[in-house]
Amino acid sequence: MEPKFAFFKGRVIPYSEAKVGVLTHALNYGTAVFGGLRGYWNESESQLFVFRPLDHFKRFLQSGRLLNMELPFSAEDLTGALVDLLRAEDCRQDCYIRPLAFYADEHIGVKIHHLNAEVSIVAMPFGHYNTNEDSMHVTVSSWRRVDDNVIPARGKIAGAYVNSAFAKTDALRAGFDEVIVLNHDGHISEGSAANFFLLRNGAFATPPITDNVLEGITRRTLIQLIRDELKMEVQERPIDRTELYLADEAFFCGTGVQISAITRVDYRDIGTGRMGEATARLREIYFPMVRGNNPKYRGWCHPVFESNHPAVSRDRTTVTVK
Ligand code: PMP
Repeated sequence: MEPKFAFFKGRVIPYSEAKVGVLTHALNYGTAVFGGLRGYWNESESQLFVFRPLDHFKRFLQSGRLLNMELPFSAEDLTGALVDLLRAEDCRQDCYIRPLAFYADEHIGVKIHHLNAEVSIVAMPFGHYNTNEDSMHVTVSSWRRVDDNVIPARGKIAGAYVNSAFAKTDALRAGFDEVIVLNHDGHISEGSAANFFLLRNGAFATPPITDNVLEGITRRTLIQLIRDELKMEVQERPIDRTELYLADEAFFCGTGVQISAITRVDYRDIGTGRMGEATARLREIYFPMVRGNNPKYRGWCHPVFESNHPAVSRDRTTVTVK
């Protein structure tokens, strides 16, 4: 089902009116950046919570800076615009939110200067990203991850997702659930649209950002939860492909995939071949938290609707177009 509304050119308008021409620079050259957020419906409070919108929009603006974009919004402005949009949609269910900043000029010429960027945001009902979050069978891709000096992976640059699409389609067609992509050094970078963690000998490890991975918000969230809630070690360090074969547990994380257990890689079981205990515990902490049900992390959950609930702030930033 199509969204009813879009935030487009500084206003919330009917989705059917948020259109671009076929010559649009971003459509021809991939010169856009995007974000991906989730809204979680909390039934008992009749409230929609967006998870860490300020952090998502900060990364969105930084992705824009990588592409030399001058965007007339702050992260607070965009959060306000999102709240306006979700209220217009009257979104009272779990949803996925897609902000996009794109070079809108309709002319020929490969460059990222002297161009005009526009911002859009749309939201749509959303459930699970993967059909199988409990026991994914993955393959190591023959495609290599884009390098910082090719197209920076630390930001969400639209054109770079052709790299993810190559890897994902080949993996799905070969019968796997997802894909692990290596960087040019042969170290694990991440999945097609998710960061990667493994657990071995009692410590978690995740590739450092300098191994060409996205600066994931869920990655950052889980590093904190592993240390503060599980009281376990997390190392940010290069990970060899064969460490995965010897791992006790592994999972992908991201706004879309949430926490998806990896239980097999190229027909080899990881650990017992079933979701591990630490992964299961993290999921038990994560899911109530993102829905606003953990007071300790309530600050990460941004309420959308006016509410009489005492723990929910009634303040919000309204969008100002500078
Ligand atoms: N890596 C890639 C390549 C992604 O596309 C995503 C999804 N945004 C992630 C990691 C996870 O990032 P986040 O936790 O910020 O959603």
